[in-house]
Amino acid sequence: LVLKHSKKERAMENSQVIKQEWEALERPSVAAIDAILGHQFPVLDHGFVRVIDYMGNDAAIVQAARVSYGAGTKTVNEDAGLINYLMEHRHSTPFEMCEIKLHVKLPIFVARQWIRHRTANVNEYSARYSIMDKEFYIPRSQNVQAQSQSNKQGREGGLEHNEVENFINGVETVSNNCYDFYEDAIGGGVARELARMSLPVNYYTQWYWKIDLHNLLHFLHLRADSHAQYEIRAYAETMLRMVKLWVPLTYAAFEKNVIDAVTLNRDEMKVIARVVNGETVTSENSGLSDRSFKKILDAIAKFRGM
Ligand SMILES: Cc1cc2nc3c(=O)[nH]c(=O)nc-3n(C[C@H](O)[C@H](O)[C@H](O)COP(=O)(O)OP(=O)(O)OC[C@H]3O[C@@H](n4cnc5c(N)ncnc54)[C@H](O)[C@@H]3O)c2cc1C
Repeated sequence: LVLKHSKKERAMENSQVIKQEWEALERPSVAAIDAILGHQFPVLDHGFVRVIDYMGNDAAIVQAARVSYGAGTKTVNEDAGLINYLMEHRHSTPFEMCEIKLHVKLPIFVARQWIRHRTANVNEYSARYSIMDKEFYIPRSQNVQAQSQSNKQGREGGLEHNEVENFINGVETVSNNCYDFYEDAIGGGVARELARMSLPVNYYTQWYWKIDLHNLLHFLHLRADSHAQYEIRAYAETMLRMVKLWVPLTYAAFEKNVIDAVTLNRDEMKVIARVVNGETVTSENSGLSDRSFKKILDAIAKFRGM
């Protein structure tokens, strides 16, 4: 009975604390992100990302979590601990309390990958309404690589210097020729919505993109990963830096629990158990595919000496 009573009292105290905080509410702001509002962070040769607006901060995440847990946390360390707990246990809705609106200029082929992320709000430049700028992406020579033999969706290894030069010069010529055709078509009275079909996917488009922090982190997890295409990864890496400025505690938890975490499946964990038991496990006797075995070696190499 005593326990029941004190629990009730504690719950009342907690709701009182939350009520007082609601009454004293101020709009959260983050000086580090305010300082870069509207600033264009260059990506690729003509692209950029810039923050147009944002809502919430680390404290807003903590505050939302406190509504569900009732108990208060006060110090930065406790807030960091709570955010880490939320991230680790995939208690994701508090992260949805924060939103960010970005202005992005990106090649159309990058936009096609990006738009697969359905949980954002998008408003794109209209090539039906306006004339496209003559701006197209030409990769730097170090980013022109051969078709990967191990990953059908990737590039790896060098190409002959003249192959790289031919490719870069060829893309430039084709892109210029296509724009000449586009301009001529528009000059001849063809509707902009039709003329645009002559432009290749390395032409730049622009959009406003608004997303909550939970879904932004999901996007960044997939698109800042080494398996993502270099061109979209370049955007994701720039956005990661913005997230670090905006919500540093969340960024630290994300880095620890998601970016730097390694997921091993059952068979891979069995190999780890065999090694812990003192067995010498090789690629041949592991029972794993080469790719799985390499995943374990890469993970160990990454964390050795950390
Ligand atoms: C390296 C890489 C290679 C890829 N290769 C290909 C490819 O070859 N071909 C191809 O077509 N795509 C490819 N994709 C795109 C990929 O399949 C996903 O469409 C994309 O990454 C978006 O992921 P998502 O659906 O989790 O994200 P979001 O659309 O942002 O959704 C976030 C989360 O919301 C939930 N969700 C959203 N909408 C729904 C829904 N309608 N129903 C249920 N749950 C939903 C899911 O949990 C989802 O994970 C690739 C992506 C990557 C990163």
